[in-house]
Amino acid sequence: MKTAVIAHRGYWKKEGSTQNSLSSLRNAADLGVYGSEFDVHLTSDNVPVIHHDPDIAGFAIQKTAYAELKNLVLENGEKIPSLDAYLTAAKELPIRLILEIKPHATPERNREAVRIIIDAVKRHGVTERIDYITFNIDAGKEVSRLQPDRSVAYLGGEYTPAQLKEIGFNGIDFNSGVMEANPGYFEEAKKLGMTVNIWTVNGEENMKRFALAGADFLTSDTPAACRF
Ligand code: MG
Repeated sequence: MKTAVIAHRGYWKKEGSTQNSLSSLRNAADLGVYGSEFDVHLTSDNVPVIHHDPDIAGFAIQKTAYAELKNLVLENGEKIPSLDAYLTAAKELPIRLILEIKPHATPERNREAVRIIIDAVKRHGVTERIDYITFNIDAGKEVSRLQPDRSVAYLGGEYTPAQLKEIGFNGIDFNSGVMEANPGYFEEAKKLGMTVNIWTVNGEENMKRFALAGADFLTSDTPAACRF
């Protein structure tokens, strides 16, 4: 398989955009890359919203009701997108969606986040266009239980590919340093039928190096730097 590029938090380096915004998603689609990655938290009243950091403008997203967050603006003046707004925009765009489920406070809350997110994805009719990623084991298990045909990759490097396969993941999505320290993971993952995604790989030289090493996907802040 040819290496595919994923814009990390969208293609936000384009002027006027910012991370995890609707414009960063549209920019990634305009660029013609394989996918756009984004981060999802549940608010205290169970509305999935898109943001990287756990807080925005002094509000802890997971402890705040959506009504208090919905008019807050990102650095470029766009409002913080809800998952509904994001998927509504994405529906019209020719790009895959790499959905990161952020860790929540308890195992049950992590599973609940997955159920609410998958419901939204189904409602928008984009099930086939989503690849899931997470640092949370409970969230990953819940994705594989509810959507066994979907791709779900683990972001932390503290388990081996074989251990993650056993848990229910079908991909690894490791930091570039983890892959450099464990070059055998490329082969191990391939033998297990798992995909290999690497974050965050920036600049043409690094992107080419990891593509040659056998990455299926590269998640990058410089998605325009390299075409494969
Ligand atoms: Mg992310």
